[in-house]
Amino acid sequence: MAIDFRQECLSLCKELILTPGVSGKEEGVAKVLIDFFRLYGASDVRTDRYGNVIATFNGSKPGKTILFDGHMDTVPVVNESEWENLPFCPTIKDGKLYGRGTSDMKCALAAMACAAVAHAMCTNGNFAGKIVVAGVVHEECFEGVAAREISKNVKPDLVIIGEASECNLKTGQRGRAEIVLETFGKSAHSASPQKGINAVYLMTDLIRRIRNIEPPISPVLGPGILELTDIKSLPYPGASVVPDYCRATYDRRLLVGETKESVLEPLNKIIEEATKANPELSAKVSYATGEELCYTGEKIYGERFFPGWAFDDDEIFVKEILEGLHDAGVDAKITHYNFCTNASHYAGEAKIPTVGFGPSMETLAHIKDEYVEVAQIEMALLGYMGILKRLFPEQ
Ligand SMILES: [Zn+2]
Repeated sequence: MAIDFRQECLSLCKELILTPGVSGKEEGVAKVLIDFFRLYGASDVRTDRYGNVIATFNGSKPGKTILFDGHMDTVPVVNESEWENLPFCPTIKDGKLYGRGTSDMKCALAAMACAAVAHAMCTNGNFAGKIVVAGVVHEECFEGVAAREISKNVKPDLVIIGEASECNLKTGQRGRAEIVLETFGKSAHSASPQKGINAVYLMTDLIRRIRNIEPPISPVLGPGILELTDIKSLPYPGASVVPDYCRATYDRRLLVGETKESVLEPLNKIIEEATKANPELSAKVSYATGEELCYTGEKIYGERFFPGWAFDDDEIFVKEILEGLHDAGVDAKITHYNFCTNASHYAGEAKIPTVGFGPSMETLAHIKDEYVEVAQIEMALLGYMGILKRLFPEQ
């Protein structure tokens, strides 16, 4: 009996939307995916220590491994009463499917899963290589970290991430880093401030100097941006006390080739210069770190440094994928993401050929009444199938 993969894809989208899964609580979403892959005869379905779902479809002959990456987690629903459409009750109105995670990015994940099943079935498994679909945990605040575990185990030759691209082909993005600047003073009663060293004054001097730094600019990806995002002093509140500690955070957008060392270098230089002018200055610059708990009980840990990446339009893999999309009737154009994705790991850290292709617009992520156009899901499904047909033709 022929399977209508468009219908199948829409049902899987709805089932995934019905199952909430904020970061660290993706277990239910993982189960839906595991059941789906088992039902449709994946060669292997497993989860790793972080709870990422990894489904493999082996072709009959050896060949390259292509990895489809879609994160299972969503941002939370802050105020459900403000939603016109219930966030966990998938509803279609005027060709739009509403629900938390529709655009970011459960429907992309569903389309990838269905495309893999469809290709394995339509070719009877007669292709050379391996198709792997990964449902990834903890992307929303920790992009690229759980993905490290996947590339270590799967060792893909090519990665396609399904973040919203409006069915265009994304070949790069700026990365990002969270930089922490700390100053250390000496506390005193604020009635006798001369007995202390005010850590906030030390900080404001540094901030003024840092504003003169001009981050690099890429003609393709845009400016490197170095923006102060918060500042905090201790003790807080500081009634009658000269604060002895101050911490500021900077958001830095990263261009291709920038490293942990090269990004901190101008900041360390400024601290050095400022110390010459004021020997009382004690300051430190570093990257923010994060630790998150996975639903498996495992902890995920890392510095908040997610590299940028970009591939040339004339790379062979980019051309082949674009051909696959065009052959499938998807009129994709080459563009770049404006936000940070798991590709920071695959392309930026692991240097694996990577592109992004997914349904919907990036501006529809994280909003109330999040939706995806059903036509976009269908086009994404067609696109993923077209890519597979081009890269893994029936033997
Ligand atoms: Zn996303």
